[in-house]
Formats: sequence, C-alpha cells, structure tokens
Amino acid sequence: MLTQFNHYLPVNLIFGAGKTEELGKETAKYGRKAMIVTGQNSTKRTGLLDRAKALLEKEGLEVVIFDKAEPNPLASTAMKGAAVAKEEGCDVIVGLGGGSIMDCSKAVAFAACNEGNIFDYIYGIKKGEKALPLILVPTTCGTGSEGNCFAVLTEDETKDKKSLRDNAVIAKASIIDPELMTTMPASVLASVGFDALCHCMEAYLSKICDPITEITALEGIRLIGNNLLTIYEEKKQGMTEPSKMNMDAWSAVSLASTYGGMVIHQAGVTAPHGLEHPASGMRNITHGRGLAALTPVIYRRTIDAAPEKFAVISKCLGGTNENDCVSVIEHLLDCLDLRTTLSREGVLAEDVEWMTKNAFKVSAASIQNHPKVFTEEEVRRIYLEAL
Ligand SMILES: [Zn+2]
Repeated sequence: MLTQFNHYLPVNLIFGAGKTEELGKETAKYGRKAMIVTGQNSTKRTGLLDRAKALLEKEGLEVVIFDKAEPNPLASTAMKGAAVAKEEGCDVIVGLGGGSIMDCSKAVAFAACNEGNIFDYIYGIKKGEKALPLILVPTTCGTGSEGNCFAVLTEDETKDKKSLRDNAVIAKASIIDPELMTTMPASVLASVGFDALCHCMEAYLSKICDPITEITALEGIRLIGNNLLTIYEEKKQGMTEPSKMNMDAWSAVSLASTYGGMVIHQAGVTAPHGLEHPASGMRNITHGRGLAALTPVIYRRTIDAAPEKFAVISKCLGGTNENDCVSVIEHLLDCLDLRTTLSREGVLAEDVEWMTKNAFKVSAASIQNHPKVFTEEEVRRIYLEAL
C-alpha cells in the first residue's frame, strides 16, 4: 500500500434518480450559452436531448447542439466541436451520453481554449492550462468519465488511442441519474458494466493505488458483483419502465461506475486497458468487448504476482480464493453473454504485430502500473492467445 500520496478530485457529484432535473440550474452557474455535446442517436431516441435543452432554456441559457460525437471519438471530431463552440461563443459545455460522448465533450472543452493539435497535449509536447467549464450527464454506467480527468481520443491518421489527462477537464459537476441508465439495450449494459468492473479491478491491482482508492475500488467491485446480473436480466426481459425495475440495483451499478472513473483517476489503469486501446484504436471495436476478450488471458498470467489481491477480488465477486478468480470472471462474462475473442470482434492476426508495438507507445504507463510488467514478447503472446 502507498504510504505517501496526493488525492485530488474536485468534481461535484450530484447522484440520484431524477437528479437530471437539476441540469439547468447547475449549468447556469458557469455560463450563459451552453453547447450540448451528444451523439447522433440515443439521446434523441429517448427524448433526453429535448429534455436537457428545455431544462437549460428554462434557466435562460442559450443552447447550441453538437451531435457529431461517435463511439471511440476521433481527435478531428473534437476539433470540429471546439471550432463550433468558439464560433458560437459558447461558455459552458454539457456532455450528454455515454463514455465516448463525455470524452468527446471534455476534448471539445479543452480544444476550445488551447490552440493546435490536441494530440500534442496528449503526448506532452504542449501543456494546456484551462478548458471551458463542463457539466456531464452520463447515460451509461460504465466509463466513469464523469468522475475523472481523462478523455480518451483516437488520432485519425495514426490510430493511436490515448487519453488526454488534464485536471482542467474534470467536470464542474456531474449529474448521475440511475433512471437515465435504464434506457440502455442489454448488450450495451453488459459491455459498459464489465468496463466499470475492469476500472475498479485494475485500479485496485495498480502499483500506485492509494488507500482511499483501494477501499473505493473494492466497494465498486462488490456492488457490480452483487447487482449487475440483476439489472442485465431486467433488460433481457425487455423491461423499460424504471418504476417496475429494481432501482436499488440500478443505483448500485451506477455508483460503482462512477467509483470506477474516480479510482482510475488516482491509480490509472493496468494491462487489460493498456492492451485494449490498440485493439479498439485499430479496429474500432467496442471497448468493453475488447476488455472481455483480454482480461481473463492477462489475469491468468498475473495471479502469481499479486495472489492476495486476486483472492480479494474473487471473494468480492462470489469466489473463494486467487485460484478461482479468473473462472469467476469468466462465469460473469458467460452470464452477460460477453464471452468473446479479439478475432470475433474484428481484430485480424496480422494486427498483432502493430498492436504489440502500439501498446508500448500509447500504454506504457498502464503496462508499468500492472502488478506484473510484461515484456514485448509476452504482450505479443497475450494478443495471440486472446485472438
Ligand atoms: Zn474503460
């Protein structure tokens, strides 16, 4: 355990069913003209975009909508959003959607205040200082972007998928409303829920996990272990009405997801995320499905390096000790209909060489944080086994 650390995470977390109603009042504290960053589909289909716009207008805010955020958002999309924000004179950004959309909105807020290519800031060539104030409203319980300073972007040309890490893009406020999560399709819930679990497990396993992060990460693992399958079953049965659903379980997974974002802010991610980013950067696969393909393969090769921690994870998920930890995770993946391989997700054998090299380029810190530091040859073998 770390005995010396800083723990800095200044975000106002507004949590609870129905809390979306506070969006207008909260945003009005930071500006008069808001840009809503969202995607092309889900917030329109569910009516959330119209509702958010009305809530902002009710408080006298002018509203501009940028609806171009895509899954695995591209740097160029964020730059386009920033150009619109500047042209329109927006002074506050509202991110409305899942992880990709929140990450894109953070990048828009940052690029609106910092000139040039955003990847220069990601690679530390330039140093940014500020961003437009951000309000985030997650509609998926997975990424935890509402609780950290990361914005994962993909560079259009190189396919490098890497996080902007800057405290300027920590949201002023994040409104986590479990009712919004209930609109996700079952398959999306499975992959984002597993992503949230991975954030908590990886932060707990990280070499730089501080004591506050450790207790938060373990509670996140426990909450997901106890509740994710319950809400997944509800979605599989086609339930859509929050009033008929187990909202305690939805709240628990939503909270665990925010915990997941907070703990990786402090402790970083480890090898599964580090190796997943090259795969989804290259082939635009779904992040949670990439993690499902890689995590068991990586953990099987890591248990010897941290047996006590794997025993704790196993117990949080209903297992008994370090030896059954991977099979407990695989059973969870089976129940979520999420057992997969990289090739089933669209990765080709010929990609392995590029992904291996790219992992050490974009994910050096994550590989270093892992309890067992893999060599290039070991990373290559992991990709081949996960294919
Ligand atoms: Zn993730």
